[in-house]
Amino acid sequence: MSSTTQLPGAPALPAGPAPKISFVSLGCPKALVDSERIITHLRSEGYEIGRKHDGADVVIVNTCGFLDSAKAESLAAIGDAMKENGRVIVTGCMGAEPAQIREAFPDVLAITGPQAYESVMSAVHEAVPPQHDPFVDLVPPQGIKLTPRHYAYLKISEGCNNRCSFCIIPSLRGDLVSRPIADVLREAEKLVKAGVKELLVISQDTSAYGVDLKYAPGVWQDREVRTKFLDLSRELGEMGVWVRLHYVYPYPHVDEVIPLMAESKVLPYLDIPFQHASPQVLKAMRRPAHQEKTFGRIQKWRDVCPDLAVRSTFIVGFPGETEEDFELLLDFLTESKLERVGCFKYEPVSGARANDLGLPAVPEEVKERRWHRFMAHQQAISEKLLRRRVGKRLKVIVDEANGTTARGRTQWDAPEIDGTVHLSSRRPIRAGEFVTVKIDRADAYDLHGTVV
Ligand code: SF4
Repeated sequence: MSSTTQLPGAPALPAGPAPKISFVSLGCPKALVDSERIITHLRSEGYEIGRKHDGADVVIVNTCGFLDSAKAESLAAIGDAMKENGRVIVTGCMGAEPAQIREAFPDVLAITGPQAYESVMSAVHEAVPPQHDPFVDLVPPQGIKLTPRHYAYLKISEGCNNRCSFCIIPSLRGDLVSRPIADVLREAEKLVKAGVKELLVISQDTSAYGVDLKYAPGVWQDREVRTKFLDLSRELGEMGVWVRLHYVYPYPHVDEVIPLMAESKVLPYLDIPFQHASPQVLKAMRRPAHQEKTFGRIQKWRDVCPDLAVRSTFIVGFPGETEEDFELLLDFLTESKLERVGCFKYEPVSGARANDLGLPAVPEEVKERRWHRFMAHQQAISEKLLRRRVGKRLKVIVDEANGTTARGRTQWDAPEIDGTVHLSSRRPIRAGEFVTVKIDRADAYDLHGTVV
């Protein structure tokens, strides 16, 4: 016997083919986590998820509004969905500015902002009511993930208390709201039980975790733990999987987490978006911790944990950046020897305060030249650092396998953004496996080796 559950505000459909939703997910890992949550909800209510707009009952576009180029990509994705289907719900960062979307596409069914899971669900219920059948409720306890089975992003907070002058995230996502520690640890535990081998901790400012909750204590496994960066890292470090920390700022309290890396509880990896090294530019950017002596701090961390790899991103061509500022940045790269580095050319995002600072814009051709100089400078540093790994035996997690060849990562590389180990083996390898690889050679960004 089956029963029918009626969801508030939506009559359940009689049994028939499951309603189909086509889903487009754009933007950063934080948006990806939002998509995962929405899809988990949808699947739990019996909706079928696909990528084909044609034939779907409705299309959901999870947008990104971080840069103007991301907005343009979001608008193009909405345009495609309107053309191919015509029944479209828009959510995500760009949804926080509905006027722009309505102007271009007055017929979209609904627009909701980031993390507005409830509103997305009610818009879906209205457009295509759910068809509940307990026998098709196949959602695994950890939810539906868009990442491969062996790694997962763990979002610990939303929003940001900083006010970097080039960034509009706080106006899109609001101030920092941390998830209580027990909730985060429960989710992490479920993921680990479901086979996840690597947890990637993400937020806008991971080192500020819990500040908004005044580090409120929670109960985890009969113990009291605080909603705090250190406690979170320590507890995740006990789960027996790789734990990687993203979006950390070089505040003094980050020092406390480095010993956990030295003890191999947490991966010896820190993703710190420095954005620049010139005090003048950092001040104009209004970066958090811009007065910290960053180079000295990295040195201190490496004394405690010599294996530590630091990855970072930088912006060149910020308004007012002089040749001297830029050279300071290159000197910082030379001295600090960061393992992994990304670089963006400054984009004057509309709505960002950097546009009103009255500082002279850097001409496009100068930005372009600085970007190439930056990349060439860092490439030489990365190559040298990678060459140190040749001849070593390293533990590698396999991301993609094809018989006896595969691509994987060491503990110093995050998925999607860092380098890869290209490997071959005598026996077939599977994604998600850990293997020991003897490194035979290195190129500018990647390693090549053989499974031993
Ligand atoms: S730390 Fe700065 S760049 Fe990052 S989200 Fe907050 S305001 Fe934006």
